[in-house]
Amino acid sequence: MLLMLRSFCLLTVLAVSSYVTCSPLSAQTPISIEMDARELPRKLLTAELSIPIKSSKKPQDIALWYPKWVPGSHGPGGPIENVAGLTFSDQDNNPLKWSRSPGEVFRVIVKTTPQTTAIRANIRYITNQPSTNSYGHDTFGSRMVGVISPNTVLLYPETADADKALITTTLKLPKDWKAATAIPQSAHDEATSTYKYDAVSLRNFVDSPIMCGLHYRRYDFELSDEQTKVSPHSLHVFSESPTAVDLHESIVEPLKKMIVQTAKLTGSQPFDRFDILLAATDLLPANGLEHSRSTLNVLSPRDLSSMGSLKGWSRLLIPHEYLHTWCGKYRQPAEMATHNFQTPQGTDLLWVYEGLTQYLGEVIEARSGFMNQNEFRDRVGVELRNAAHQQNRQWRPLVDTAAASHILRAGSDTWPKLRGSQDYYMEGMLFWLEADAIIRSKTNNKKSLDDFCHKFFAAPEPTATLQYSPPKPYTRKEIVSTLNEIVKYDWDGLIKRRVENVRTGYDPQVADLLGYEFAAKAERPNIPRNTFRFPAGIDHLDTLGMTLYGDGTVMDVKLGSPADQVKFSQGTKIVAVNDHIWNASVLDEAIANSDVNPLINLLIEDGEKLKLVQIHYDGGPKYLSLVRNDDKEDLLEKILAPR
Ligand SMILES: [Zn+2]
Repeated sequence: MLLMLRSFCLLTVLAVSSYVTCSPLSAQTPISIEMDARELPRKLLTAELSIPIKSSKKPQDIALWYPKWVPGSHGPGGPIENVAGLTFSDQDNNPLKWSRSPGEVFRVIVKTTPQTTAIRANIRYITNQPSTNSYGHDTFGSRMVGVISPNTVLLYPETADADKALITTTLKLPKDWKAATAIPQSAHDEATSTYKYDAVSLRNFVDSPIMCGLHYRRYDFELSDEQTKVSPHSLHVFSESPTAVDLHESIVEPLKKMIVQTAKLTGSQPFDRFDILLAATDLLPANGLEHSRSTLNVLSPRDLSSMGSLKGWSRLLIPHEYLHTWCGKYRQPAEMATHNFQTPQGTDLLWVYEGLTQYLGEVIEARSGFMNQNEFRDRVGVELRNAAHQQNRQWRPLVDTAAASHILRAGSDTWPKLRGSQDYYMEGMLFWLEADAIIRSKTNNKKSLDDFCHKFFAAPEPTATLQYSPPKPYTRKEIVSTLNEIVKYDWDGLIKRRVENVRTGYDPQVADLLGYEFAAKAERPNIPRNTFRFPAGIDHLDTLGMTLYGDGTVMDVKLGSPADQVKFSQGTKIVAVNDHIWNASVLDEAIANSDVNPLINLLIEDGEKLKLVQIHYDGGPKYLSLVRNDDKEDLLEKILAPR
């Protein structure tokens, strides 16, 4: 997710400093890095970089950057705060002075001498303390399993083009540990647990996490058949448990189907081979990130013990990160397509990058057997309802949650729906579900979003010298024109309505198009609580406009609702309902009888005092639900059918 055609000399050098040498990198010799991961169990990683520079008759001030906008993070979240040791010397180990660039902590200036031909940088990095914005691209160590994100120990010249500058890597691991990464390996010395890797571009290096550990199993998949060409894939599993690396057949088979179904969906593969890195561990936090020739996935071994234990976020992780190889890595929003890791990115089109990936990831989850069709229907019902209750869309359009992505990642504990979060994921998913439904209903199911994917993701074949298709930027205009090539429709108007305009209500046209109705019903739908993003707590959002904890404490209030009118807020505690001591069922009963008894008396704790309030509500029990309309064709069934 990153490459943009901007002159960084103009944008960055002039803006930050006018005296820094502009082309210090020697064009011929690659940067080299020696990573020492032997202390990963102590949560330390060290690295020595050698950065060749053009010699000069005069001392130079060389600007180096620590990766700031790391691909996949959608923000300036490079974890530079964890660098806990940084020294510089020249090629002969003579110390060089350095200083931080004023106002830009990711940029350092190293003072060289006329004799300097290479800058050696020694970096010590403290692992396992990710920030909200660095989770997927941080480095983690433990006594048995590790994840190294190369960006955490990288410094590169300000003038370097991430696609042209090369880097060679050596990696030392704890005794008997193994490693897997998409960087092509040139040597492995088992006796010293040392790996050497071929020279790759800086982009490739940053884009290739290294998973390592004591217990390791590799699964190789050759899945081509007469209809579908599939590049070789390998699944690399690491764990603290020698048995957890042997994945249950009920997990491996859907993973193989995921690869084949995605190949059928996208029509081409922008890589020569692919590595799925999977840590089955409780020693590292669950997380994941997309890459061009690999994916990083960390899950608990309990989740991976059988298909029945794999649910929700954990089940979605691998398909989601895998789909990003097409949507986000190969096809990138133009404003995110930068040529280095310091140029700020425009993230408006994350509703495509993440929203389309979310949709396709869940569709592939269903087509490959990870989830059944009923579970997918439940997911759609949950997300339609979440969108209907969203409160920040009244003041900011969906596109603003994308533009402001990196400040919204953590969500909000107080008034969460008012501030919103990274809503472009799920409302973006609903946009693409609606687009699929529109294409299908306008073409009598002859065309679908699969046709859009074939066009949009069409990739040239990788060559012997190019292992993956270079990122191909896109704009909003291309999204509209490609959709129009599939079927003529007012796509521009739909994007404005769903993505770019503020709104008060929610238009559930998508449900109607799919052959369903999305409306308030008296009965709660029977959706399992462990469905991904099922609302937490006791849920009265469709009636009184609030959710509660089990003890009667208010969790969240919806603006304009009866609970809002009596000024409830987070932490208000209901002690009694209509003269009955609080429990969840007495409030249910009061709502059920509200058509004959529209004044609900509530005794609440108000600080040190008790207070009586009356809520006026006469609507009876209500719950926004997705219900099948038998008069219409069920398009969801068609969308989810394996190809
Ligand atoms: Zn994603």
